[in-house]
Amino acid sequence: MEWFGELKKDDPDTYEYIKEELSRQRDGLEMIPSENFTSMAVIQACGSVLTNKYSEGYAGRRYYGGNEYIDDIERLAISRAKSLFKVPHVNVQPYSGSPANLAVSLALCRVGDTIMGMNLTDGGHLTHGWKTSATGQLFNSVPYHVKADGYIDLVEVAALAEERRPRMIWVGATAYTREFPFEEFAKIADKNGAYLVADISHIAGLVAGGVHKSPVDYAHVVTTTTHKTLRGPRGAMIMVTEKGLAKDPELADKIDKAVFPGMQGGPHDHTTAGIAVALMEASRPEFKEYARQIVSNSRTLADALAANGIKVVTGGTDNHMILIDLTPFGNGLGIFAQEALERAGITVNKNTIPGEPSSPFYPSGIRLGTPALTTRGMKEGEMRRIGRMISDAIMEIKGMRMPEEKEERLASIREFRARIKDNARIKEIRSDVLSLCGSFPLYQGFEM
Ligand SMILES: *Cc1c(COP(=O)(O)O)cnc(C)c1O
Repeated sequence: MEWFGELKKDDPDTYEYIKEELSRQRDGLEMIPSENFTSMAVIQACGSVLTNKYSEGYAGRRYYGGNEYIDDIERLAISRAKSLFKVPHVNVQPYSGSPANLAVSLALCRVGDTIMGMNLTDGGHLTHGWKTSATGQLFNSVPYHVKADGYIDLVEVAALAEERRPRMIWVGATAYTREFPFEEFAKIADKNGAYLVADISHIAGLVAGGVHKSPVDYAHVVTTTTHKTLRGPRGAMIMVTEKGLAKDPELADKIDKAVFPGMQGGPHDHTTAGIAVALMEASRPEFKEYARQIVSNSRTLADALAANGIKVVTGGTDNHMILIDLTPFGNGLGIFAQEALERAGITVNKNTIPGEPSSPFYPSGIRLGTPALTTRGMKEGEMRRIGRMISDAIMEIKGMRMPEEKEERLASIREFRARIKDNARIKEIRSDVLSLCGSFPLYQGFEM
């Protein structure tokens, strides 16, 4: 049976869109740091008959019959996660990172409790207490910040923890390019009786591959998505550490109950199978090499950008991610850089920078990363070439200005989008990108 043959016959519209998306992924440089390309093995597990099953509850304690194989799969995923991250308890059922973080918040805190997390515009995640997230509405959220140099302000974290006595402190971020000081956070949390929760969504693959310090000895609970550097399907895991169990022997049970029945119904068993496959892949020696290469690529790219006159937040990176500060060109220009790069076939996202002078909607930076390019097999030489392309594309926003008024802003973005289409240098970069992508085939041999 031809894979996708049925879809092509049954629903040509959906089939065509998927096919177009496959081409888009193949023909561009995917540099959004939270994205990656899973193995075909992961895709096959996710595209399996497991999507048919209901299995509310946990292995051996389900509310539905027929779960003997589902139990095997969930136990396999759990045991692989436990040995990869060296933790005594794992829940693999959260639908994604955001519900995992809300489940942890509800397990550890009561509504109205004080929590601390990194401020959103400083690189923190919505679910660490931002005002528009449920976590900011249900809890009394006290944000901490990064210093002007881009590093976490540990003096502020310590002072706020002392003064506000949070029930829980988050360490982890969605836009932070340096190692997290887990040990310092643990000291602060322990001194003030707070739970320390490490959210390693972005760096889980680097932790698994041994190129970023693990938070397991320092945090009580660790959450992670499975689809970023860990290179699995869209999903999440919550891990309870020995330290967490020592603080509260019922912690594992509380976390499990918060996920189901607290927040969710039936787990997505096809995703659980994909997670099991990804965890097996991440435990292989090749994955250590992959993680090492991600960071080496990221550092090489940061150096190349700096050498070409682009300002990089903190002056470099320790992980898979780079934050570009566009304020030397003007404030609020992230969207223009994103548009110019997208036209060239380089996918990145606009992002706030430390001390953001504009707003989260019209931020002054862009965020990019190397996990997906590294999966394609690209190395330092390609990073230097890409660094030049990105710098050249960014130079094309010179002279742009973000207007103050909303309608004017939209008009200005529309005008830029139309103009950049015919830009000769952007066209050249686009063809360079295509030839580079041709040398690093994605899902080789797989045709739709
Ligand atoms: C991506 C991310 C999440 C949320 O994951 P979703 O699967 O998008 O809900 C949570 N925390 C951090 C730090 C992240 O980077």
